[in-house]
Amino acid sequence: MISIKQVHKKFGQLHVLKGIDLEISEREVVVIIGPSGSGKSTLLRCINYLEEPTDGQITVDGIPLTGESSINAVRAEVGMVFQRFNLFPHMTVLQNIMLAPMKVRNLRQAEAEEAALALLQKVGLSDKANAYPEQLSGGQQQRVAIARALAMKPKVMLFDEPTSALDPEMIKEVLDVMKTLANEGMTMAVVTHEMGFAREVGDRVIFMDEGRIVEVGTPEQIFSAAREERTRAFLSKIL
Ligand code: ADP
Ligand code: MG
Repeated sequence: MISIKQVHKKFGQLHVLKGIDLEISEREVVVIIGPSGSGKSTLLRCINYLEEPTDGQITVDGIPLTGESSINAVRAEVGMVFQRFNLFPHMTVLQNIMLAPMKVRNLRQAEAEEAALALLQKVGLSDKANAYPEQLSGGQQQRVAIARALAMKPKVMLFDEPTSALDPEMIKEVLDVMKTLANEGMTMAVVTHEMGFAREVGDRVIFMDEGRIVEVGTPEQIFSAAREERTRAFLSKIL
């Protein structure tokens, strides 16, 4: 579903991604961990073409990411959820979810609304359709953000530390929605330090450091028998 070959990203002199190779299969859930500044967000942003790689090649569902023409195609296929929920504050929950499908996929109002209500039910927020974001808790806003991304019917979902900005008691409700998605077969790349989630849901864990993939393995292998000293050192700090 996602193929990343020798991807480099530089911001000016700063060499942030230094030759990333990664294949993610359909229905696979890949959890990406690593220290702050190691390039995790930049990698996700390249997969969504929010950033253009300086070198290398990425394809998503067979679509090569190059130039303007691929942007719309890939944005429709790849949903992204950020640490901050980025909901439109002046729109209701329902309007937030309906906006992109109506603008980009040309859905009619009634169709978009029906789909949005179904998604709200999926994330457990049917009763909040007409609320405004500021009336919701952080966990509820993040679930709306997930529903909004799903409204475009993406083939891949990228999550960049989706629970890092949440109070502890709200983390589970967001992780539960993500688990459901994974169990339904969504292809996912998730940057998170929620190791319980990684163990339970992740097919593979990827450890990044200084712009490189240092180690890849099953959650079991990475968490209990990491081969690389750098991986062990990182895990000893967060576990
Ligand atoms: P992580 O998500 O692993 O914490 P990031 O991918 O956000 O790491 O950042 C990796 C490095 O790239 C950091 O040094 C960061 O400051 C730098 N960086 C990220 N985005 C930009 C940008 N748009 N311009 C300049 N530097 C950036
Ligand atoms: Mg980041």
